[in-house]
Amino acid sequence: MFYVPTRIFFAENALAQAKEKILKLGRKALLITGKHSAQKSGALDAVQSLLKEGGKDWHVFNQVSENPSLETVMEGARELLDNGCDFLIGIGGGSPIDAAKAICLVAANNTRIEDIYNASLYAKAYPLVAIPTTSGTGTEVTPYSVLTDQKAGKKAGFGSELAFPYAAILEPSFTLTMSPKVTLHTGIDALSHLLEGLYSNKRNPIMYPMIFNGIKTIYKNLPKCMSHPDDLEARTEMMRASLYGGMVIAHASTTLQHSIGYPLTTEYGVPHGLANGIVMRSVMDLYYPAIKKELDSLFEYLGISRDQFYQWLEALQISLDFPISQSFIENRLPEVLSSRNMANNPFEISAEDIRKIYHELKEEE
Ligand code: NAP
Ligand code: ZN
Repeated sequence: MFYVPTRIFFAENALAQAKEKILKLGRKALLITGKHSAQKSGALDAVQSLLKEGGKDWHVFNQVSENPSLETVMEGARELLDNGCDFLIGIGGGSPIDAAKAICLVAANNTRIEDIYNASLYAKAYPLVAIPTTSGTGTEVTPYSVLTDQKAGKKAGFGSELAFPYAAILEPSFTLTMSPKVTLHTGIDALSHLLEGLYSNKRNPIMYPMIFNGIKTIYKNLPKCMSHPDDLEARTEMMRASLYGGMVIAHASTTLQHSIGYPLTTEYGVPHGLANGIVMRSVMDLYYPAIKKELDSLFEYLGISRDQFYQWLEALQISLDFPISQSFIENRLPEVLSSRNMANNPFEISAEDIRKIYHELKEEE
């Protein structure tokens, strides 16, 4: 089955194309953003102009930080209800959009903070328009929201069909302001999602054209976006690949490749895409015997060998500038083993497999 109920507008003038659809959603919008990027990218101004022209009111909630917390979701839901908003527009990277996805559910169902991850309790949602300003998560077309439980010191996601945005507005120029670092980390996240479409035990050949094309697109365009941040054509290509990645994980879900990265983010603040990138080669090595047919066809399609792919990864200089500790590895192993995404691995992954991958990031003793 292939199911993405989100209306996808992908064009240089995607927002203008979606105008009528957005304006009919309600009377007053809650605009959910991070601190700076919605403004900096030009997306917030563009949305406010559109709402103004359409005679709609809005309220801005710009308190979403990276790896949004359950508390931020509760605060956003309160802002929505207190300000009488009846639809939401999430603008930014994955963090504001994931927060917005949870807010539209929490506000509609009067959810308690301890129940946020319990998707079975959601019966309805306020309509949400998602406007990405990064090319990475693909969250604008997935049913997931990834949140940080600060009390438990844990990052985890939930999935609900009700969390699919009503519409996704992909306007590549909104990504031009990303720094080379954010460009790299988010681009590697998109690459992870596409690879996981092959790794996952939910893999489905109907998605292979998207996966193969998306990976080739990143292979060609990610270095260009880093060296020439204003290259709109390359930015457009990256946004398309990220969208494919989102559609792929909406079906295949993520795997160990993501589970192993979440603790690096909660413990050390490693950006999401970087956390995926630093283990990408080890995870591919681990999976390769099980996914040989798919990966060999991928490398043939790219016209390179697996070693050349690894050299390309290395040239991107994805690395941590600090070592992780032995106690981190032992403390976090149970969390990785019990994470939701581990159900999708191509074969049973042992504690030893995970320990080995983490060890490669550890300083020599
Ligand atoms: P992000 O955490 O949303 O943003 C990272 C940084 O980039 C922030 O400092 C942000 O600034 C900045 N930024 C965003 N757009 C920019 C632009 N156009 N110009 C300049 N700076 C910009 O990053 P992300 O990688 O997109 O999202 C990561 C989150 O998504 C993680 O929590 C991850 O777990 C989640 N995720 C979710 C899914 C899903 O399906 N739900 C899939 C993969 C990942 P501001 O803070 O000012 O906005
Ligand atoms: Zn991801």
